[in-house]
Amino acid sequence: MTLTSEQVAELRGLVDGRVIGAEDAEWDAERGAWHLILDQRPAAVVQVAGAEDIAATIQFARQHGLAVAAQPGGHGATSAINGTILLRAGALTSIDVDLADGVVRVGAGVRWRDLNAALTGTGLTSLPGSNGDTTVVGYALGGGLGWFGRKYGQAANTVRAFELINAAGDRQRVTRESDPELFWALRGGGGEFGIVVAAELELQFAPQLYGGRMVWPVEHVRDVLRAFTEITANAPDELTLWAWLMNLPDLPFIPEPLRGKWVTAVDTVYLGDADQAEKLIAPLRAVAEPMDDGLASLSLNAVTTLAQEPEEPTPGLLKAVLLNSFDEEALAALLEVAAPGSQSPLFVFEIRHLGGAFARADEAQGAAGSIDDPYLLLFGGIVPVPELAAPVAAAIETVQAQLAPWISERMVLNFSGEEPLSEIFAPAVRERLRAVKQRVDPQAVIRGNHPIS
Ligand SMILES: Cc1cc2nc3c(=O)[nH]c(=O)nc-3n(C[C@H](O)[C@H](O)[C@H](O)COP(=O)(O)OP(=O)(O)OC[C@H]3O[C@@H](n4cnc5c(N)ncnc54)[C@H](O)[C@@H]3O)c2cc1C
Repeated sequence: MTLTSEQVAELRGLVDGRVIGAEDAEWDAERGAWHLILDQRPAAVVQVAGAEDIAATIQFARQHGLAVAAQPGGHGATSAINGTILLRAGALTSIDVDLADGVVRVGAGVRWRDLNAALTGTGLTSLPGSNGDTTVVGYALGGGLGWFGRKYGQAANTVRAFELINAAGDRQRVTRESDPELFWALRGGGGEFGIVVAAELELQFAPQLYGGRMVWPVEHVRDVLRAFTEITANAPDELTLWAWLMNLPDLPFIPEPLRGKWVTAVDTVYLGDADQAEKLIAPLRAVAEPMDDGLASLSLNAVTTLAQEPEEPTPGLLKAVLLNSFDEEALAALLEVAAPGSQSPLFVFEIRHLGGAFARADEAQGAAGSIDDPYLLLFGGIVPVPELAAPVAAAIETVQAQLAPWISERMVLNFSGEEPLSEIFAPAVRERLRAVKQRVDPQAVIRGNHPIS
């Protein structure tokens, strides 16, 4: 259900930002998510001008028996936000770096590409993921699995404070000391506990970076993935490898030798120098000469685009699963459904190495906790026309069935779509999150993409 034109007019009178209702010409352009396949149906959209607009919209929602949902970028959109008033935080773009204290304060609209640019050259970093277009706050609320996580863990666990507008419409600074349970819930439990205006994150050391992408013709896929598993079995925490099997589209933005071809690739990021990194990845070099070799000294800026993911909204279906291992049998099983001759409409398979600090449990961690599984597998297909959704979804199910023995029961929040909470959080974590939600937002005025209540 959308707001009536009277309600839209009333809300416009309460905020400084733009309110877009269903009768406005920009409605279709404004209501969508990053995933173009989702026909997202909010009640209205508010492009907030500041924190006061968030507070005013929450008050408005309470009075009208509605809910609000933050959606800065929509990379994690699910159907749960339908019927809510969507809050877009594009105007909250402040970045305040305190090098002496090793902390950065970012507004809720700051994207990773902007934070990486601000920190480039400082020798310090936060914990970015693969996509520069996701917001730092949205990513950290859901955990945050990034390039430096094997060394420093999930981004959520590095948050020192959140500034939010709570369900009563009041501004609140949440720290471990001010409200330990709420602070715990916000660090990985998602966007159910308040609309975050800004977050303070502890910075980590990254004085030297080396890495990039190596690409081989697909006939080397078995040996490349074997070398990947060999290296990752004993890799130091400073080294992160992500392996790929992909069918690159025949489109102009793909360089000519790679366009329209199945290839295999490995992305490397090493917190250290070239010599040490090259020693560690020697088994990959021994497979064959890559057809494209992008390994070089890296700036933090370059990390944001290393995985070459689309930053523009994209019509695709993606699935992510955690893998309890990736052995020779798993490799054979994957290649049966993912090889070029398989006729699969899926075009990308990505295996991220986790482990290291991701796996180290610590009582001080938030709801994101630690992750025991050593790999994350992401796979999916493009759905340029709705008719392709069914075959792509069916192919995703085929891969899941084929890899069932290696797929973990648990999934991480940031990479979850419509999966139920029971697949994301362990029962004890779910109960603890429910207790916090009941205390801070008993009327469920604030709706995350994975509702707790
Ligand atoms: C191409 C792609 C690559 C990705 N790569 C990674 C990766 O490497 N590592 C990783 O961990 N994740 C990754 N993700 C997942 C991404 O981190 C999540 O989708 C995350 O939600 C951030 O996206 P966003 O900023 O667009 O948030 P949105 O999708 O706009 O928001 C997602 C949810 O976060 C909550 N939220 C966001 N902002 C606020 C706020 N200010 N206050 C309260 N709640 C809020 C809300 O519940 C909202 O529904 C990727 C996603 C895509 C599509």
